[in-house]
Amino acid sequence: MIEYHSFCRHEKSCTSVSSPLTGKFSIKTSKKENSWQQQLSTARRGFYELCQLLDITSDGFEGLEKLDDDFPVIAPTAYLSRIVKGDPNDPLLLQILPNAAELIETPGYSQDPLEEESSSPAPGLIHKYHGRVLLIASSTCAIHCRYCFRRHYPYQENRFQRNQHQQALNYIRSNREVREVILSGGDPLTLSNKYLQWLVNSIADIPQISTLRIHTRLPVVIPDRVDTDLLDLLSGRLNIVLVIHCNHSNEIDEEVGYALRKLSKSGITLLNQSVLLKNINDDADTLGLLSHQLFDNGVLPYYLHMPDQTQGTAHFDISEAEACSLMSSLAGVLPGYLVPRLVREQPTSASKTQLPFL
Ligand code: SF4
Repeated sequence: MIEYHSFCRHEKSCTSVSSPLTGKFSIKTSKKENSWQQQLSTARRGFYELCQLLDITSDGFEGLEKLDDDFPVIAPTAYLSRIVKGDPNDPLLLQILPNAAELIETPGYSQDPLEEESSSPAPGLIHKYHGRVLLIASSTCAIHCRYCFRRHYPYQENRFQRNQHQQALNYIRSNREVREVILSGGDPLTLSNKYLQWLVNSIADIPQISTLRIHTRLPVVIPDRVDTDLLDLLSGRLNIVLVIHCNHSNEIDEEVGYALRKLSKSGITLLNQSVLLKNINDDADTLGLLSHQLFDNGVLPYYLHMPDQTQGTAHFDISEAEACSLMSSLAGVLPGYLVPRLVREQPTSASKTQLPFL
């Protein structure tokens, strides 16, 4: 189960928040930061609350309590506000609504489809690919995407406190061929600015590291997360690449667009990765519109992932043949730089496998 933070639940006047990592020390936060943290702390919802908020029937949810234990609904208000009330097929709703199909065991699917646990030389560190390492910076997400390949990751056993991250940093320092650190999770931007500043500075202190990549869904899910302090702490010596995760153009409203343009104007390279999801974005019109909207806000489409074979997610799959046909249609209507690369991750490959489609 992915745990979520026990953020400060003091009275409104209090500006202290408990650390998402240690739960011990307190820091002063600006009103703005408190605002995104407040949104994060109230994002945990039950099925019935979600249905009630969105005016959809909760019939058929009986017996799904196990899903709520294993992978609870987390969906901030800013994201819910983009869902059309009363529409059970809304493409954003389908990404967060638990489904009885998640309980079906599918042969060939696993809890760790990318075999990440076998590539972990230090707590929270995954070293699979040459020249770059992935550091699980936070065990928390601002949203729970039902198709997530890390939905079964043992976050409980990989507590990410400062001393564990320090072990990972020591490993990175001793591996001179590593040039890029990827912060992932969970979502790294659920960390407080204070902790993130420490992590970014520590990485910048490692001489061979030139690039810091951050995989995050926060700017899309809670656009208020893109505050001035965040922009400041990302303005040091490292090249910063922010890879957002956006699957549908309905996820980009005015606030999200504004947040993305702020990031872009501050010199950060912005890329997007999407997951190809049945009944959500598996048609060329939807993906074409997404590419245009991303680019209008300073983001280049990067990867379109085939869903990983994660237990409980098979109902999101489309076949490779369908995906390749869709990509041919997409390439027919978009300029080349707006066509994402269709990829699949395989545990034994030294890089993502790009699927040919023309
Ligand atoms: S897809 Fe990303 S944001 Fe969504 S649950 Fe998984 S790690 Fe969290």
